Amino acid sequence: MQSTDTEFLIPSSVSEALSSIALEDAIFLGGGTSTALLYKTRMIEPSRVVWLGNVGELKGIFTSPTEVKIGSMVTMAEIAADREIARLLPGVSTAAGVIGNARVRAMATLGGALAHADPRQDLPPALIAVDAKVSVRNASSSREINLADFYEGFLETVLSPDELITEVTVPILQNRRSSYLRYTPTSEGDYPTVGAGASLTFNEDGKSISTATLVLCGVGAVPIVSSEAGLALAGTTGDDSALLRAAELVRGAVDPQDDERGTADYKRDMAAVFAYRALKACLNS
Ligand SMILES: Cc1cc2nc3c(=O)[nH]c(=O)nc-3n(C[C@H](O)[C@H](O)[C@H](O)COP(=O)(O)OP(=O)(O)OC[C@H]3O[C@@H](n4cnc5c(N)ncnc54)[C@H](O)[C@@H]3O)c2cc1C
Repeated sequence: MQSTDTEFLIPSSVSEALSSIALEDAIFLGGGTSTALLYKTRMIEPSRVVWLGNVGELKGIFTSPTEVKIGSMVTMAEIAADREIARLLPGVSTAAGVIGNARVRAMATLGGALAHADPRQDLPPALIAVDAKVSVRNASSSREINLADFYEGFLETVLSPDELITEVTVPILQNRRSSYLRYTPTSEGDYPTVGAGASLTFNEDGKSISTATLVLCGVGAVPIVSSEAGLALAGTTGDDSALLRAAELVRGAVDPQDDERGTADYKRDMAAVFAYRALKACLNS
């Protein structure tokens, strides 16, 4: 029988968690749904695991007239069940509610869902579309990062090993509509082949679009923002020809690979289709 010397710590405050992570190969643990698999297959062998489940400061969803703040230990099930998030950020609510299966959603946390950085994950595009910002801290400093700038590559973020995600903040804009849609050809609980998060902000007339953001997952090493599609929609009324033009521009922004979920060409086609549908869902929301 093999044994490991992994130490398991359960801090009860953020400052205790930050001082516990000082060891070189120590890791934070949220719901453990990604980490458990990596640990089981020995892809990681940390000397210390710092479980955040007892840190009350990292829990809770707080809504004010100007923003929504979500603690990093809030689970996907809690986000999906929150009525204010469903009303104000329907794309985020939908994304949290389709991840994996009920058992995964009951355990998986916001911090883990962002830090894991698998480019097929549902939540990042939905949150980037509504301009989410990530608050992180280490023992000596804190910073806020636009989620759009958070990802560096496959399973890679800008976080240092000693940095803890404490919360995510999303601004509330009365004239914004948002959505998230995904496509899974295999089982319902599987990662998506392609996911599309969209938001449209309207001018005071309520009819013309002032800004548009389209973000795709599953079609590159990181979530991809199609700036060209956003620019093409600004100033239009979101009529069907404008939506189709924007969706076509998504093809040039994505960089998919062939894998068991489809060929690169197929994924490029599906990215355009789901970008169009996500935009349409914004208009119908
Ligand atoms: C069966 C299955 C199906 C899945 N299907 C989907 C799917 O359809 N769509 C989808 O998007 N995802 C899917 N996932 C992935 C799932 O979203 C992630 O496993 C989950 O979000 C990770 O959250 P966690 O809290 O469990 O993270 P953990 O496993 O606890 O941690 C993941 C990583 O984040 C780090 N971390 C955790 N919390 C913090 C923090 N606060 N600050 C800094 N770093 C932190 C950890 O050190 C680790 O590196 C699936 C996973 C499983 C097991």
